[in-house]
Amino acid sequence: MIDIQNYIDGTLRAPVNGEYFDNIEPATGKAYARIPDSNEKDVEHAVAAAERAFPIWSGMSTAERSAILMRVSEGINAKLDELAHAESKDNGKPIKLAKSVDIPRARDNFAFFATAILHDENAMHDMGQNGFNYTLRKPLGVVGCISPWNLPLYLFSWKIAPALAAGNCVVAKPSEVTPMTAFLLSSICMEAGMPPGVLNIVHGYGQSAGQAIVSHPTTKAISFTGGTSTGKIIAGIAAQQFKKTSLELGGKNANIVFGDADFDEALKTSVRSSFANQGQICLCGSRLLIHRSIYTKFRDAFVERVKALRVAPPHLETSQVGAVVSEAHRNKIEAYIELAKEEGGTVLCGGKRVVPDAPFNNGYYLEPTVIEGLSPHCRTNQEEIFGPVVTLMPFDDDDEAVAIANSTPYGLSSSIWTHNLNRAHRVAEKLDVGIVWVNCWLVRDLRTPFGGTKASGMGREGGFYALEFFSEPKNVCIHLPRIE
Ligand code: NAD
Repeated sequence: MIDIQNYIDGTLRAPVNGEYFDNIEPATGKAYARIPDSNEKDVEHAVAAAERAFPIWSGMSTAERSAILMRVSEGINAKLDELAHAESKDNGKPIKLAKSVDIPRARDNFAFFATAILHDENAMHDMGQNGFNYTLRKPLGVVGCISPWNLPLYLFSWKIAPALAAGNCVVAKPSEVTPMTAFLLSSICMEAGMPPGVLNIVHGYGQSAGQAIVSHPTTKAISFTGGTSTGKIIAGIAAQQFKKTSLELGGKNANIVFGDADFDEALKTSVRSSFANQGQICLCGSRLLIHRSIYTKFRDAFVERVKALRVAPPHLETSQVGAVVSEAHRNKIEAYIELAKEEGGTVLCGGKRVVPDAPFNNGYYLEPTVIEGLSPHCRTNQEEIFGPVVTLMPFDDDDEAVAIANSTPYGLSSSIWTHNLNRAHRVAEKLDVGIVWVNCWLVRDLRTPFGGTKASGMGREGGFYALEFFSEPKNVCIHLPRIE
C-alpha cells in the first residue's frame, strides 16, 4: 500500500486529521494505495503557504518562472514511462493511451505555458493628441484548480501550468478517484526547484477538500473541470465572493456523418471518438448522427469494427478498451444501457460486462455498446453517460442534423464529416458548441480557445485565453497635455 501525501509548502505531508481512504485500481477492483482525506485545515495550510510564496513567485522575471516550469516539463518527460504506468493503473485506461496521449500532453502543457509567457504582450490604446492607455496584466494571487478523473495529469496540468506561468500561486486538488500522478508530480516540482508554497496539492473528497478551496476567502479564482452538477455548486459559492470562475463541464457531443463523407476515414475515427478512454473523454462523440443515404452501410460497418475492439486489462499493450474508472461509474453506465432499452432502443452490440482472467476478474470492464432506434429527445440521448456507449440516429438534411445536434442542454464539441466545403462551414457556424472538428476529432492546437456553451460550462481555457483568465488587466491612462 502506498500512502499518498499532500504537497504543501514544498513538503510532502500527511493530512492534519491523519485520515485516509482507499484508492482502488479499476483493472482489479482492489485497493492499492491510500488517499489523504484532507479537509479545510489542510487547505488552510496550503493557502497560507501559497500566500507567503506569492511575492517571491510573482516577483520573478518571466524568464526565471519559465525556466522552472520547463524543468517540470522535462521532469515529466524523464519519468514518462513511470507516470504512464501509474496513470493506467489508477484510471484503468490502456497503457498505450497513457504513454501516447496523457503524459506527453501533461509534459507539453508545462512547456507550452512556460514558453508562452516569453512571447506575451500587452495592449496600448492610443488617444492621439490626448495621450494613451496601456494595459498591465497582473497575476491574481492564490488560485484554486480542481480537476476530474478521466484525463488525470493531462487536465490537472492544463490548469496548473497557465496559473503558475501567469505568476499565481496555486492550491490544487486532483480527483480523489485518480490522485496518483498528481502525487508523483509533487516530487517532480521539488526536483525542478519550484519554491515552496508556489504549488500546493491537497488530496481528498470534493465536498470537503475541494469545497474548502472554493470557499476560502483568499482564493481569487477557481478553475474547475468536472461534472455539470458540481459546476453549479462551485459557481454558486464562488459568485457570492465575486471570484473568477472557469468551468469546463459535461458534454453530449454529436458526431455528424454526411452522405458525402470519406466513408473509411469517418468510420475509423468515429470508432475512436466514441470509445477512446472507454468513452470517458468529455469530447467523445456519444451521439453518432448518420445521413439516411448511408445509414445502414455505415451502421453495419461501425458495429463490425466495434465488435472487434479488444477489451482487456489496461497494462497489456494490446488492450484497446480498458476498465471504466470505478464500480459506481460502471453501475451508472449499466443503468443507462437499461434505460436505453426501456426507452425503445435496440442494442446492436455490447451492453455486457467483460470478465478477464484473475487477478483482473473483479475489474470494471464493459463491452463497447452501440444502440439505435431512440428518439433524439429521450433521456439516453439528452443526458451525459460518459462511458463506452454510443447511440446512432439517422437524419435527412443539414437542418435536421443541426437541430438534433443542438437539442441537448450541453454544448461542448461536435465533429462534422463531409467533403462539401460550403456545408462544413455552414454547419460549423450553426452548431451551438465551443469546438467543432471538420473531418477529424481531438486534433488539438494548444493555442486555441477550449471550452463549451450552455451546460458545458463557461469561460475558455487554452493559449492566451488561459493566461488572461489567470490575470487581471489594469488600464493606465496617460494624459499628455500639449506643450505650449
Ligand atoms: P466531478 O464533478 O464529480 O468531480 C470533479 C472534481 O471536482 C473532483 O476533483 C472532485 O473531487 C471535485 N468536487 C466534487 N464536488 C466538489 C465540490 N462540492 N466542491 C469542490 N470540488 C468538488 O466530476 P468527475 O466525475 O470527476 O468527472 C467527470 C465529469 O467531468 C464529466 O461530466 C465530464 O464531462 C467532465 N469533464 C469535462 C471536461 C471539459 O473540458 N469540459 C473535461 C473532462 C471531464
